[in-house]
Amino acid sequence: MQTHPESNAPETQIHPAARHLRRRRRPPLPVLLCFSAALLLVLIGLFLLLRGSDREAYSENITLSPDARSEITVTERYAVLNSCYLANQKIRVEGLMLHSVGTPQPRAEVFAKQFNTFQPNGREVCPHAFLQADGTVYQILPWNHYGWHAGGTTNRTHIGIEMCEPDCIVYTGPTTFDVLDAPAARAYAEETYRSAVHLFAELCLAYDLDPLEEGVIVSHGEAGAQGTASDHTDPEHLWQGLDLPYTMDTFRTDVAEHLDLLQNEEAP
Ligand SMILES: [Zn+2]
Repeated sequence: MQTHPESNAPETQIHPAARHLRRRRRPPLPVLLCFSAALLLVLIGLFLLLRGSDREAYSENITLSPDARSEITVTERYAVLNSCYLANQKIRVEGLMLHSVGTPQPRAEVFAKQFNTFQPNGREVCPHAFLQADGTVYQILPWNHYGWHAGGTTNRTHIGIEMCEPDCIVYTGPTTFDVLDAPAARAYAEETYRSAVHLFAELCLAYDLDPLEEGVIVSHGEAGAQGTASDHTDPEHLWQGLDLPYTMDTFRTDVAEHLDLLQNEEAP
């Protein structure tokens, strides 16, 4: 029986020395496999490291030094006894949420004191700041702190600001109220709106946020409707109840305009 011509031919034609060389040039299969596995592990490690560092890139805490045009003054009065402050979690600031306190109390300092307890009114709750009509801001959490103000996932990304409300209204339900002095109540809410515009513009400048980008500036009511916060209607319920022409769209536009002013002032 004839042997296949190619079956033995190569072996017999190679000089023994050359055969030795050829063997050394090609690494054995186990070495190749080990090398590939190590390379794969390094690549996976790099990927996880980059993804991890991206997730954990928390924002810096900043001390807000408002521009003179903003007419706001920020007092740091951290709620160090609040369980939220004690939890000491940080966020990467990706947006700002506007709230209204839902109770007739015009002074931010009153809330700052009230929230410096383990659980104010028995609740796990803490926004970053309270703002009153004349531009006085009591900041009770560092801006990059994980606040408990939204009752949903927006807490992970947004700073929460509470606007105080006039003392000449009386709540008749969670979102309804009687107005005892309409001109005074409106004047208070208008001034608070303007101060909030200025504070939000300062925060947008500090954290490089675009006020008109979708989802950056939201109200508690908007996020609640989208399911990323608890089911509240603030602060729109206050503006509507006082027949004011404000909406979150006017608010975002006004913040963008004030931010333009601040940026132009910064430019040489
Ligand atoms: Zn709210």
